[in-house]
Amino acid sequence: MSETRHTKVLIIGSGPAGYTAGVYASRAMLEPILVQGIEPGGQLTTTTEVENYPSFVEVQGPELMQKMEEHARAMGTEIVADIIVELDLQNRPFTAKGDSGTVYTADAVILATGARAKWLGMESEEKFKGFGVSACATCDGFFYRGKPIVVVGGGNTAVEEALFLTNFGSKVTLIHRRDELRAEKILQQRLLKHPKVEVLWDHTLEEVVGTDMPMGVTGVKAKNVKTGEITEVEADGVFIAIGHAPASELVKDQLELHNGGYVKVEPGSTRTSVAGVFAAGDLTDHVYRQAVTSAGMGCMAALDAEHWLAAQEG
Ligand code: FAD
Ligand code: NAP
Repeated sequence: MSETRHTKVLIIGSGPAGYTAGVYASRAMLEPILVQGIEPGGQLTTTTEVENYPSFVEVQGPELMQKMEEHARAMGTEIVADIIVELDLQNRPFTAKGDSGTVYTADAVILATGARAKWLGMESEEKFKGFGVSACATCDGFFYRGKPIVVVGGGNTAVEEALFLTNFGSKVTLIHRRDELRAEKILQQRLLKHPKVEVLWDHTLEEVVGTDMPMGVTGVKAKNVKTGEITEVEADGVFIAIGHAPASELVKDQLELHNGGYVKVEPGSTRTSVAGVFAAGDLTDHVYRQAVTSAGMGCMAALDAEHWLAAQEG
């Protein structure tokens, strides 16, 4: 049966931004409800070692997010397993409809829906998604034990995924469209000296090749961007790691966006174009996109919401 729940602050998203907003909003006695979404814990649950979150020299991504969830819960955040499917930011109280049927009404909303993996948009990529094509090495790497693997991309994610996949694959070929990686230098060093890794510089993925029965990938065709030459690479698994796009579909017609879909906030704050609606983390950040910056913005959003609610009451 559907029910309606009212809260002073509704937090949408359970990554570092959402959970940190939960900690601060709870300590401000705002009794927040936090809706976790389809990926409880957010993007860090799809990775292994995190080595740059202060206070942990090394921590597993899922463990870090578990600790953040426990922290938010211990401070008093009500954490709900639901997905917001509709959001009305035009009328107050704001209304959010959950996939469960629950309707949440809120005096203030903190958006922390983060970002999602980007795809190349090729027909063959779509065809083999779930049958050899993946965007999550930690989720699917295990299926390619002793098999050749291809990773596409040149950022931190691609390099980390390629390194992680060396634990399983017989060989990992990284295909990158330029002759220089975007990833941090320390990761580049690890990648380039790894005996199982080969980098195909200046190449783009032209096609994923495979069989229909059984459905599966056998390799890829990669194109040299300088010469146009096609190289075939044998692979059972193809991991697309070309970055992430902000998850702003819920608000795309209601809030000002910029830089290709990121929610615009007033500089130095988390205030969006609608009063009472705040945004934090990768949803609003096209520059830093780190766990620690997302957590910082989650804190800012809760403080901004607290001040705004106090001003309304005043
Ligand atoms: P996210 O972590 O993206 O979480 C978004 C949340 O919103 C999810 O819980 C999702 O379920 C929820 N959500 C989305 N839509 C809805 C909806 N409609 N209703 C309800 N909830 C919704 N950063 C580092 O600092 N160090 C690292 O080592 C590192 N490694 C990474 C490795 C990988 C493979 C990836 C992909 C990213 C990595 N990052 C790393 C980046 C880091 O994960 C992000 O910067 C950070 O997770 C962003 O946090 P966030 O809270 O903004 O959103
Ligand atoms: P990213 O930094 O945006 O890198 C995306 C990579 O994919 C780039 O190398 C880009 O090439 C390539 N690419 C993009 N579109 C492509 C296309 N259509 N075809 C072929 N290649 C394409 O994304 P990310 O690596 O996912 O990282 C996102 C954020 O999370 C970053 O801020 C990153 O620092 C953070 N992160 C941090 C860590 C860590 O701290 N250890 C780990 C993972 C992620 P070009 O280089 O040519 O543009």
